[in-house]
Amino acid sequence: MPKSKDHRLPTNISSKCVKCGTCHSVCPVFDAVPTESHTARGKMALIEAVAQGRLEESERYRDYLEACLLCGACQEACPNEVPTLAAMLEARESLAGRMGLKTGKGMILNHLLATARGFRLAMRTGRAVQGLMFRRIPESSGLRRRFPLPLIPEDRTIPGVARDFFTDLYTGTVRTGSGPRVGIFAGCMTNYFYPETGADMVDLLGMLGATVVVPEGQVCCGMPALAGGARDTVRDLAMQNLEAFEEYDLDAIVTGCASCGGNLKDNFRALLAEAGASEPRIEAFLSKVMDINEYLARMGLPSRTGEGADEEAGREPLTVTYHHPCHLGRLQGVKEEPVRLIQALPGVRYVPMEEADRCCGMGGSFSIENYDISKRINDRKVDRILETGAQAVVTSCPACILHIRDGLRRRGRADVEVHHVAELITRRMEEEEVESGKEKGESGRGDAETRGRGEEVSCEGERGG
Ligand code: SF4
Ligand code: SF4
Repeated sequence: MPKSKDHRLPTNISSKCVKCGTCHSVCPVFDAVPTESHTARGKMALIEAVAQGRLEESERYRDYLEACLLCGACQEACPNEVPTLAAMLEARESLAGRMGLKTGKGMILNHLLATARGFRLAMRTGRAVQGLMFRRIPESSGLRRRFPLPLIPEDRTIPGVARDFFTDLYTGTVRTGSGPRVGIFAGCMTNYFYPETGADMVDLLGMLGATVVVPEGQVCCGMPALAGGARDTVRDLAMQNLEAFEEYDLDAIVTGCASCGGNLKDNFRALLAEAGASEPRIEAFLSKVMDINEYLARMGLPSRTGEGADEEAGREPLTVTYHHPCHLGRLQGVKEEPVRLIQALPGVRYVPMEEADRCCGMGGSFSIENYDISKRINDRKVDRILETGAQAVVTSCPACILHIRDGLRRRGRADVEVHHVAELITRRMEEEEVESGKEKGESGRGDAETRGRGEEVSCEGERGG
């Protein structure tokens, strides 16, 4: 096994910061907690001070480093092009190398997450006991705790662990078509909590004629471990994923998770090289990776759906707004594609949202460890959503879906639907087929039902428990 890289502090990066303060105005955490240490400028100064020996690494330093969503807004706004995200990730890695991870976090990141078997076992256990610890809230399909639990506040709504995991339901070649061969990288949120999103992607890609493959050996992309500083774990996960997807001859590797896609595109090249993979192997894998929105746009989906159908059909369209996940819009530059896809859907009217690319406040473990801050950031997102008057908000990241649903429910607005873009498109396409079938005097339901939704996956959220 290749050796861990040396733990070193990113002074070369953090010292690029000229302390201009431009990043303050865009930082969601600073907006919620206006203290210098919560800004990129403050964190760059702390990292520099530690690197120069003026400050000791400590738990307090760790808390400041981890009180960041990794949303990238500071990096985007920085006139000096300071790679703040890389600096913060390297600093967290350095800290973990010198001081270790927090006890519970270390166990999760270094042991449970590191192997597919261990993580699945943990999820199965969670599924078995969640009914004892959580209650279903009446107005929606989420769960709330029954009694005080560490890290889970009373007012937080979380999804239940799915009754059936996506990679149990879909394994190997799951659709055979005459088009490109497309592999699905599921990601943990889709696999364990929202298998319906994975099912939608299978259906959608199948409808477009693809041969759809779900490689069985795929594991977590490692983003939580990378954010926690556990680089050794992420490197092993990256290698397991490379080997899983190499088993199949694929034209594209598609994900519906913004954070997984961002991690694969931005970090896997270096991680796989550290793990000893050759450049041609790495290139063959990563050159195929794309978000589902990118894939659909490349396949020309908007022009296949067509506009103006609502007037013809005499129906009231569903009003839909879109939230840009930070790791897709800002970090991968995929902003136009989802909006164009939504705008082109029949039966849907797109209404733009102010601050659509502002973070929802999720930030992975940030929202667990800093829920009060996360909630305040989320409140602003919910305000923007409600201002649009849209009946549904659509996004491209399961973690954003979780957090936005929680925010809407806290405000008593569970009536506003929250969907993954793949779900919206798949349902609209199925409904269109039903409508056109009716016009032709056919039952119109056969094709949609035989695609496997519903029978295979509970799509209504209350799974397990
Ligand atoms: S905008 Fe860039 S250079 Fe200015 S303080 Fe923030 S990180 Fe430093
Ligand atoms: S990544 Fe986002 S949350 Fe973190 S310092 Fe930058 S703007 Fe603030």
